[in-house]
Parts: sequence; structure tokens; C-alpha cells
Amino acid sequence: ESAPVVPAEALRDEYDKLVADVRRYRFAYYNEAESLVSDAEFDLLFRRLEEIEALHPELVSNDSPTQEVGGEVSAAFAAVQHTSQMYSLEDVFSLEELEAWVAKASANAEKLAAGLLAVRPLRWLTELKIDGLAVNLLYRNGTLVRAATRGDGITGEDITHNVLTIKEVPRQLHGENLPEEVEVRGEVFIASEDFIALNEQMVAAGRAPFANPRNSAAGSLRQKDPAETAKRPLSMLVHGIGARTGLEVGSQSEAYALLKAWGLPTSPYFKVFSSYPEILDYISHYGENRHGLLHEIDGIVIKIDDFAVQNALGFTSRVPRWAVAYKYPPEEVHTKLLDILVNV
Ligand code: NAD
Repeated sequence: ESAPVVPAEALRDEYDKLVADVRRYRFAYYNEAESLVSDAEFDLLFRRLEEIEALHPELVSNDSPTQEVGGEVSAAFAAVQHTSQMYSLEDVFSLEELEAWVAKASANAEKLAAGLLAVRPLRWLTELKIDGLAVNLLYRNGTLVRAATRGDGITGEDITHNVLTIKEVPRQLHGENLPEEVEVRGEVFIASEDFIALNEQMVAAGRAPFANPRNSAAGSLRQKDPAETAKRPLSMLVHGIGARTGLEVGSQSEAYALLKAWGLPTSPYFKVFSSYPEILDYISHYGENRHGLLHEIDGIVIKIDDFAVQNALGFTSRVPRWAVAYKYPPEEVHTKLLDILVNV
């Protein structure tokens, strides 16, 4: 069957409006810690943008939102260059899409890293997708010298003083043979219990409660005065490394073991699997238990564990080709729909 033909001009208008909306929502989200639409609505708009671009590649420009890591650097903070780029993640919204993604990544790995796979079959690291904001920690010889937001992935905002107020973030790593330099990436968030307590305090003080833990964490971390940040119950978990000098490490899971030994906060929830059904079990387990966790999640992240295979697959301008985020069916949409139904 053939898709209905949309007049080029109408499609162009829809496309331009989508680009403008996505930019506006991203700015509010990353720079003002505010959601003008739900994440599920945002994801739908982004999907539609990708769909139109797939049909009309001639529309895609280098500064399309699909080609960039969302977020910019606000003038309120000093800009810092990440040593190696920070990326976003490709999303999938159903198990069918996930299966297709895993098949594609496996085939790519077979093609680009056959030699490696002959020695070590593919392994998948699965972990929770923490609903917080990405931060890059730079350690030199074990000392934290800088912390920055992701920004546009290349340039972030210097929030070192604010990050130093987070109790889990070590100023000094411990251990011997610490690398000359390493970028540690992770997520800053407010734990579910702390968020409830924080909102109780806000209400008791006669102030409006925060809408959700993610935006409250983002707003708290990007305060101009670190003393304000220090009053907020921020936490951090690390989920990757960027540039490194003087560090030999073969896989994501090995890196987590090292980071943990150095005193960095790694997630208690990650697992390494060698088969697809195990990934599915992990997804269904956390789908059923997503609210009893330390922090809010907006999905599951699946990564190829082996760094050599990761390197062989590489990145697009926006996302790694060796990792994917599976998003659970949105809950917000259901409640919104229910609200609408109740109010009719
Ligand atoms: P993303 O949140 O979909 O995924 C990339 C990020 O996930 C990484 O930068 C990383 O910091 C984070 N992450 C969390 N746990 C991780 C883990 N275990 N391993 C690796 N990374 C992990 O990407 P994005 O580009 O930052 O944002 C897009 C998402 O943000 C959208 O899907 C939407 O849900 C939300 N958003 C919402 C609005 C809105 O208006 N509501 C606007 C913009 C973005």
C-alpha cells in the first residue's frame, strides 16, 4: 500500500513547526528546568521529526534537532569543552523496535568486529535509565578538577562548585595507579524518598511543590549560588567514562568495577547478559517494579559491554551506535487522558 501523499508545502510547514517546537521545549527543559509538555509528548514530536526526515532527507540540515545533542550553554555559567564529546541515546518505544535494534547492532558488530567476537562473544550490559541530568566529572591524578553539564555535548557549563555539594561525589578518588586523567559521566538526580520530603518542606514553608524530581534536580544543580544547591538533596550515579589517559580498561562492566573501587557511586542495578531473552526478563522485571526503586527511571539502557566493539561501532553526531534506551509505555499520557475523560 502507498502512504497518503502530503502536499510538499504542508509537510514543509509541519516540519518547520516541529523544529521550532522541539527547540523551544528543549531550551525550557535544559536551560530552565521546566517541561512545557510531558516527556511522552516530546518523544512523539521528536519521532515525527525523524519520520519526516527519513522520508525527505533533503530537509535534514546540520543543525536539525535530530543531528544535535539537545541543550546549550547559558551565559550564567562559564563554558567548558568536554575532552571527548557527550552523547544522547537512541530511543525505542516497543519490544519490536528493541528486537530490531539489537539485531542491527549485532549485525554491525559482526561486520565491523568479527575478529573480536570470535574471541569474546557479544555481551550486553543492561541498566536503569535514570531520570536526571547528565554531568561530566573530570579527575586528574584522582582529584576532581571540574564538573560540567552536558550542554550541547561538546561544550558544557562549569558547575564544579555545585557538584562538590553532592555527598556521593568524591573530591579525591582512592586507590593506587589512578589515571592521569579520566572523564566520568553520570546522572544527577533527586532520590524518590528525598523528593517526597523536599516537597513536604516546600508545602510546609508555604511554597509551591516541585512538579517532578528530574526538573527539580536540574534546577537545583544549575543554581548560581552553590549554597542553594547544597540545601537540595541531590544524588549522583555514574554510568560511563569519556576521555582517559593512563587507564587501560576493556569493558563497561570492568569500568564500573574500577569506578566503584575508586569511591565513585555506581548503580546497584546493572547486569551483564549474553542473550536477548535475559534482556527481556530484565525489562519486564523493572517494568513491574519501576516505582519501588531508589530513583525515578524513564526506561532501560542496553549497551554493548566490550569497549573494543563499542569503538568499532562508533557514534552518529547525536548518539552511540552501541547503546539504546528502551522507554516504557508512558504513564503521563494515561493520567492526562484520564484527566480529560474525567473532566468531560
Ligand atoms: P535521553 O534522556 O533520552 O538519553 C540520553 C541521556 O540519558 C544521557 O545523556 C544520559 O545522561 C542519560 N542516562 C540516564 N541513565 C543512563 C544510563 N544508565 N546510561 C547512559 N545514559 C544514561 O536524551 P536527551 O537527549 O537528554 O533527552 C531526551 C529526553 O529528554 C526525551 O526523550 C524527553 O523524555 C526528555 N525531554 C523532555 C522535554 C520536555 O519538554 N518534556 C524536552 C526535552 C527533552
